[in-house]
Amino acid sequence: METRTSLSEEASVSGAGENDALSLSHEQWRARLEAWGEPRFRADQICQWIYGRRVFDYHEMSNLSKALRERLCGEVLMTLPIQIQERDSSDGTRKFLWQMADGARVESVLLDHGGHRTACISTQVGCPLKCAFCATGALGFTRNLTVGEILGQFLMMERRCPDRGGQEGINNIVFMGMGEPLLNEDNVLEAIRRLNHPKMRNLGARHITISTSGIVPGIEDLADFEIPIRLSVSLHAPSDELRSKLMPVNRKYPLTKLVEALRFYRKRTGERITIEYVLIDGVNDNPQLAYEMAALLDGLEPYVNLIPYNPAPDGPAEFRRSDDRRIKAFCAALTALHIEFEVRRERGADILAACGQLAARVKSHV
Ligand code: SAH
Ligand code: SF4
Repeated sequence: METRTSLSEEASVSGAGENDALSLSHEQWRARLEAWGEPRFRADQICQWIYGRRVFDYHEMSNLSKALRERLCGEVLMTLPIQIQERDSSDGTRKFLWQMADGARVESVLLDHGGHRTACISTQVGCPLKCAFCATGALGFTRNLTVGEILGQFLMMERRCPDRGGQEGINNIVFMGMGEPLLNEDNVLEAIRRLNHPKMRNLGARHITISTSGIVPGIEDLADFEIPIRLSVSLHAPSDELRSKLMPVNRKYPLTKLVEALRFYRKRTGERITIEYVLIDGVNDNPQLAYEMAALLDGLEPYVNLIPYNPAPDGPAEFRRSDDRRIKAFCAALTALHIEFEVRRERGADILAACGQLAARVKSHV
C-alpha cells in the first residue's frame, strides 16, 4: 500500500451550470458555438478533446483557432475536482480523494481486474439515508454533486489510466461510491447521457450501473430511461422489520412497494436486476433468509451479489463480517433455490476503499 498526497495543477474555479464545461451537453456545446459563429463540427472537436483524449486545457486543443481558445478560456470554465490524495492498494485498487470548488470532499475508486477497469463514482457529498452498516451514511448529508463533479471524477481517473496495448481508459462505471444516486437523479442521469453520447465519451449502456438503496420513484423513472443501463438494488434483508433496522429508507419505501417497482422495471425493460446483499454475521446471514428472499423476489430472476460486510472505522462495533462457514451456508441455500449469485471479492480493504468504507478522510488509517 502506498500513500501519495498531491494537490494537482488543475485547480477548480467554480460550480455548475452553463458556464461549466463539464456540465454542458453536446447540444448545449453546439448551440453555444453556433451562437459564436462557429461551424457545427466545432462541438464535436471540443467534446473529442475533453471526453476522447482527456485534454482539459483549451490551449492544448490544437485544431481550434487561437481566438476561439481564448474565448473558451474566458467564458466556459473547465472545473475539475482537485486531487487531494491517492491511495493504492496491494490488489491494484486505487482510491482518490477529491475536493470540489466549495471545499466539499468525496472519494472515487478505480478497480482493475487484469486490465479491465471499473470506476466507482460518488453522487453526493455524504448520504442522507444512514444505513446502519455504511461509513458514508454515518457522515450525514451535505449536498448533491453537480453533473460536472460527477463526470470530473471519472475523467480525472481515466486520465490516470496507463495505455496498455490499446486498452486505454476505463471500461465500466458504477454509481456505487458515496451517496444515493437516485436522490440526485437528474444530475446522475445527465452525467450518464454525456458518458453514453457517441460524440462525447461513447461508453456503452451495458457498462454503466446504478446502485440504489431502493428509491421507488427513481426505479420507476429508470424503467423509462432512454439508455438501457444496468440496475443494482441493495436489499440486505427480506423482511421489513430487519430491513428497516438496517436501512431506514425502508420505512419510506417498504418491501411491497420496492418489489412492485422492481417487477415494473423488469417487465418494462426486460432486464435482469442485480440484488446486493451484504452479509453481516448473525444479523442477516441465516440461510432461512435466503429462502425468504427467494419468495419475495419470485419470478424476478434476480442475480444476487453477496458482499461480505466490510468494517468501517466508525461503523457499529457489533457488526462483523460473516465467517466463511456462514457465507457457504447462505450460498448453499441460494444454489438450492436456483438463484444465480456471486460473492463479491473484497477489493481495496487495506485502503478503506471497499463497499461501504468511503468516508472522504485524508488521514491514513492503516
Ligand atoms: N447508495 C447506494 C450506492 C452506494 S453504496 C446503495 O446503497 O445502493 C454501494 C453498496 O455498498 C451498496 O450495496 C451498499 O449497501 C454497500 N455497502 C454499504 N456499506 C457496506 C459495508 N460496510 N460493507 C459492505 N457493503 C456495504
Ligand atoms: Fe447511503 Fe448507500 Fe451508504 Fe445507505 S449504503 S447510507 S444509501 S451510500
